[in-house]
Amino acid sequence: MNSTEETESIETLIQYQYGFMFSKATFTACELGVFDLLESEGPLSSTTIAERLGTSRYGMELLLGACVALKLLRTERKDEQVLYGNTDFSSLYLYRSSPKSQSACMTWLSENTYAYSVHLTDAVREGKNQLEKFPGPKNVYDHVYRSEEQRRRFMDLMNCGWSLWGRDVIAAFDLSQFPNICDLGGSGGALAKECIYLYPNCKVSIFDLPEVVKVAKKHFVSEEEQRIHFLEGDFFKDPLPEADLYVLARVLHNWDDKKCVQLLTEVYKTCKPGGGVLVIGMVVNEDRCGPLLSQFYSLIMLLHTEGKERTLSEINMLLSAAGFKEAERKKTNTSQDVILAIK
Ligand code: SAM
Repeated sequence: MNSTEETESIETLIQYQYGFMFSKATFTACELGVFDLLESEGPLSSTTIAERLGTSRYGMELLLGACVALKLLRTERKDEQVLYGNTDFSSLYLYRSSPKSQSACMTWLSENTYAYSVHLTDAVREGKNQLEKFPGPKNVYDHVYRSEEQRRRFMDLMNCGWSLWGRDVIAAFDLSQFPNICDLGGSGGALAKECIYLYPNCKVSIFDLPEVVKVAKKHFVSEEEQRIHFLEGDFFKDPLPEADLYVLARVLHNWDDKKCVQLLTEVYKTCKPGGGVLVIGMVVNEDRCGPLLSQFYSLIMLLHTEGKERTLSEINMLLSAAGFKEAERKKTNTSQDVILAIK
């Protein structure tokens, strides 16, 4: 190794060693409301920020310094004082009320994924999720929705991603030939909103668990939205509604192959000839060595679900076991790929 290579590899080493602190400092600044305060009031001194957010001055000064080093905040000097302000990046993604805000995602990762990740070694040893180590129900969605507040937070989390990649994903195929779309496990309706925006003649029904539908109706989709409606049900137990196209967005990665085939078989049986299923989610490379985010997500799925991220061949095998013979994949410029299979 020459000296440039060695310097680079030490930098990589440091990032891997302290990567969790990149996340934790960002989560903490989000949780304390640093970006929200600075967005509404403009640049402030560390003393004022600490006072407004009810923290120690010393702790806040250290956190602000870390955020500047992470390029989440910038500094300016005014009247001998250092003032901290949001960068464009933080205003766009970390300020809670920005249309592209990922603040809900930060909260979820901090309170849930980060906590589960403490047990990653056990999950890898045992090859199964670690829900038993946490209070509350042990099956996946009873656990996720263990309280009213958790349910709402998870639905906020689900909506977050769509603000980043929703348009690209929904535009990957021309869906105008499917006037009635059913979004199975459609959560708070972010995908449904993208669909009706892009396809003026389509209607979307969101099929999800009853307690999710209640929250979605109350907080996420207004009653005036005539082209979106809701259906309560369990897609492993109840008959599926009629539709021209069924969407499964980030659903299959929650379940093992058997359950995925069960669900896709129901979709195939209910689907009319010419209709189809649109699978949206991350796809792992065939050699299983990337992309990095998909590999991370497979570990996250291992930690708290029954599923994993799959390769295209694996997804095609599930589709064909259910009866769908032909599937086409479109890559997008986002972490999510789209696969359309027609009956
Ligand atoms: N499709 C949404 C998206 O991409 O934003 C949400 C994906 S989330 C990972 C999985 C969804 O499946 C949740 O909304 C969950 O409530 C729903 N779900 C889980 N089990 C279900 C079941 N048995 N029947 C119906 N929906 C279910």
